[in-house]
Amino acid sequence: MSKEMYEFQAETKKLLDLMVHSIYTNHEIFLRELVSNASDAIDKVRFEGLTDHNLLADGEDYEIYLLPDAESKTLTISDNGIGMTRDEVMENLGTIAKSGTKAFMEKMKEKVGGKEAAEGEKKDDNEATDKDLIGQFGVGFYSAFMVADKVTVITKKAGTTEATRWESDGLGTFSVEAAEKDTRGTTIVLHLFDEFTGKEAEESFTERYKLQDLVKKYSDYIRYPIKMDFEIEETPKDADGKPIEGAEKIKHTEVRTLNSMKPLWTRNKDEITQEEYNDFYKAQFSDWEDPMEIFHVTLEGTTEYTALMYIPSKAPFNLYHTDFEPGLQLFSRHVFIMDKCKDLLPDYLRFIKGLVDSPDLSLNISRELLQQSRELKTIGKSLEKTILKTLSKMLKNERERYEKFWMAFGKSLKIGVYDSIFTNPDAQEKLKDLLLLESSKENKLTSLKEYIGRMPESQKEIYYASGKDRELIEKLPQMEQLNARGFEVFYLTDPVDEFCVDTLREYEGKSFRSISRGDLDLGDAEAEEIKKETEDIAKKNDALMKDIKKALSDKVSDVKISKRLKTSAVCLVADENGPSISMEKTFAAMDNPMFKAKRILEINPHHALFEKLVNLHSIGAEGKEFKDYCGLLYTQALLIEGILPDDPIGFANKLAELMAK
Ligand code: ADP
Repeated sequence: MSKEMYEFQAETKKLLDLMVHSIYTNHEIFLRELVSNASDAIDKVRFEGLTDHNLLADGEDYEIYLLPDAESKTLTISDNGIGMTRDEVMENLGTIAKSGTKAFMEKMKEKVGGKEAAEGEKKDDNEATDKDLIGQFGVGFYSAFMVADKVTVITKKAGTTEATRWESDGLGTFSVEAAEKDTRGTTIVLHLFDEFTGKEAEESFTERYKLQDLVKKYSDYIRYPIKMDFEIEETPKDADGKPIEGAEKIKHTEVRTLNSMKPLWTRNKDEITQEEYNDFYKAQFSDWEDPMEIFHVTLEGTTEYTALMYIPSKAPFNLYHTDFEPGLQLFSRHVFIMDKCKDLLPDYLRFIKGLVDSPDLSLNISRELLQQSRELKTIGKSLEKTILKTLSKMLKNERERYEKFWMAFGKSLKIGVYDSIFTNPDAQEKLKDLLLLESSKENKLTSLKEYIGRMPESQKEIYYASGKDRELIEKLPQMEQLNARGFEVFYLTDPVDEFCVDTLREYEGKSFRSISRGDLDLGDAEAEEIKKETEDIAKKNDALMKDIKKALSDKVSDVKISKRLKTSAVCLVADENGPSISMEKTFAAMDNPMFKAKRILEINPHHALFEKLVNLHSIGAEGKEFKDYCGLLYTQALLIEGILPDDPIGFANKLAELMAK
């Protein structure tokens, strides 16, 4: 087929632009990315070769070859992996297929918009976050354009006869044409920028010894040999192996393998440095930052495995999006089986990165069957236990570090508790002691155990309040009564908090009680007195309450005299049995307006407005003014909850009418 030119997809262009302008500061990582693509390609052909024996030639070695050439200023990276067809080349090297990278580009788009708005300001900050962002994905192949102004790919898919040549300067277009290639696999030629070639360059990718160092640093664990030719000059030796004096040196080429190929996780724990663990993590899981926690565990017995798992130091921004793919890598006797195995860890540990290598997992069964295998379940349970145990220890002994963990990944555990009603009934029990919530006590994150430990004897229940932030909650009228009694209150500021607490229902026999849902009965003499007083007022004004309820019949399920209000005239509370008002808002935001809170309007009997209502009511419950007042009161209560009225214009007009009187 003749040579054809194509435009990169718009998103790819932007990504390339970022590469060319090198937002990565360490350019050298392109090598890690290309070598790891080559290794993946060999994994694939090796895996397919298990079922299709025609794919592999007898006795063939898998290998990755580096060929630097200072003269032509090129670095060539070849592999004998799976290769690509023409269609695959178009798909893989023209678009951004990876959902993660796509999400990254979306995020960049938002940022670029913001950047233009604030041109010039805080440029360094932006650059730092660009790097953070890009590091979360590992942009792979396109990183070649950080060091090269032209990239040529020649590839031939295993089991096919046609090869394809792809070429681009990374500026907007690429060409694709048929090519000649004898062997299966992919060859990538990087035409390096001048600054990255030659002996003098600080970062030179044509210098063999520098390349050797880079491979050691980033790709030592790669399971296939990464080879390079070295030109050796040697003085000839005599029969005893001694150099012959005065003899002219002879040159020969020696092929050396640059990496040790020993997977890190198979090495003895005591011999692995923290730095090696961190470097492996960054290379294998495409992160820029060191991980927060490392688990390297080996189990021997009826089920055998070695796992190397990490908690990243930051949550990827798409952790809770549907496009985030959780899961661990699976190996069997060091041979790669699959990338994101979701069936090992429960969803609430979706932030864990890592791999599991087990001889108990059969290579020859299909992935579907593998996922149902009993071994996998047993391994998963054991890994989960290890992780939870470590977290629990961290909470106990390293509070600060745990809080850092909690800020990054606590949401996952909270969702896990909530999810336990649907999918994972044991999760509540396992997670409840790991929860931290904000509390009225000293502005600190507090565990349920700590809360219980501080409860005064007179306190019967665990109190919580939900709201957008600490400040708003502290202004809630109900808080006064609790503060006065020295009762601690959990502040639920994350929408998922309330769902989590609602699922738990109780902790160590003490039930959770919302201070803004249902009746708040504090159970002491003072509360008793207020209760009695309220009941008296309610009895006296029974007809009034009934008529307000009638006027608002389509909006509220009940109208009550309030025990909790001190300064405001009204408030809305939700019935104890059912979602709260903030939960209703969360459901609505998730496009799930089915779950409605049962709204109860509470009226402050000590507010001047109450008297006014009594008067209007005495004139006539069917009067326009009484009904208008009822409507206005309800809308006020909505506004306090941060809910817009259905008819804001009607509300404004009524208010204006009243003010003009
Ligand atoms: P990633 O490797 O993370 O998916 P890349 O942009 O690095 O993203 O590569 C895109 C795709 O191109 C890969 O998923 C793979 O299908 C293909 N590819 C890249 N390099 C090679 C290679 N050396 N051999 C075969 N396929 C490759």
